[in-house]
Amino acid sequence: MKSNSMSLRSKKSSAGLKFWILTMSLVLASTLTSVTAHARKFGGDEVNNGAGLAERIVLYAYDRLPVFMNICLQSNNCKISGDERAVLSQIAASYAAERASGGQQIQFESESLKPGFFMIDGVVRMAKTGSRVGSPIYVNIDLLYTLQGNGRREAIPMSDAVALLIHELGHHQGAYSHQDLDYLGVKVASLAQNHMQITPLLPFTNTVALMVLNPLTEQAFPDVLIYAHEEVIDISAQFRASIKCPGFHLPIPIGGLPDLGVPLEKPRGATYNNLFWEDIDVDATEQEYEVKGSIAATCQERATIFTNNKDYKIRISFDAKKKDGKWFVDENKIRIEQKYEPWWKFIILPF
Ligand SMILES: [Zn+2]
Repeated sequence: MKSNSMSLRSKKSSAGLKFWILTMSLVLASTLTSVTAHARKFGGDEVNNGAGLAERIVLYAYDRLPVFMNICLQSNNCKISGDERAVLSQIAASYAAERASGGQQIQFESESLKPGFFMIDGVVRMAKTGSRVGSPIYVNIDLLYTLQGNGRREAIPMSDAVALLIHELGHHQGAYSHQDLDYLGVKVASLAQNHMQITPLLPFTNTVALMVLNPLTEQAFPDVLIYAHEEVIDISAQFRASIKCPGFHLPIPIGGLPDLGVPLEKPRGATYNNLFWEDIDVDATEQEYEVKGSIAATCQERATIFTNNKDYKIRISFDAKKKDGKWFVDENKIRIEQKYEPWWKFIILPF
């Protein structure tokens, strides 16, 4: 009797498992088609303009400077004086006019190739510019990288690029001293840094890393960038398209199998944090990476970004291939998926 009921139960659960696997494949097929937005690479399209990681970081900081400035201008935590606020507000108000020069405002040059080009008041500067809105900003490539103790060449952090650009754009607003603009740039950058999370694959290097810039309000979405070797890839649009609000929901208690869920509304904002690298597969010519983090979306009458809900995760996976001695990310193979993973998903399948 006992063995009969045992085998009956196991038959029932294996039929149930088949049903879940069948429905899972249907759900997967429907979720994968929904993410169609494209990734965007920074730089590399001009001769001598944006060839390496640091140059791309500078170009990204330039592109998103209004976001970084607003973090300071709209926050009570930005410790700027009234005068500094006035200059920063002028820089922000002139930003569109600065860009009107056709996207060529940032120019990369090398002091070692052009000795004296960056020499101002007897000091080799990181950058130089003119005094008018729209003047080109020349950035010294030689100082964009530092040599680490382990012999690696490391690109400047995003926050340094923000400080540098605020400094140079400040010169377009009046006869301010280099030192005063340094202070302003550092204040804007340090607050911006609070909103940036960089999760490197290995400590002390951004060779492969994920950068997230979380928004200031609940009504906006994060910027998400992949740093991979010499590339900076903006996947923000694709990331945003993958975020779903909880709607009709049928939980499946098996790890690896997604729950059945039909989102009923679009989120109005989100934050992405608690990132970690989940899977890495590296050989001589191909690399596969997977990074995962908690997503908290602002949905009507549901959890907001401040409710500390850790049940929803977003997994980002991408590949890099070696071509002519350099690594390139295959933009068509970047996958971003939201998953519901509460603690009680306790059964892990061995495949
Ligand atoms: Zn200066």
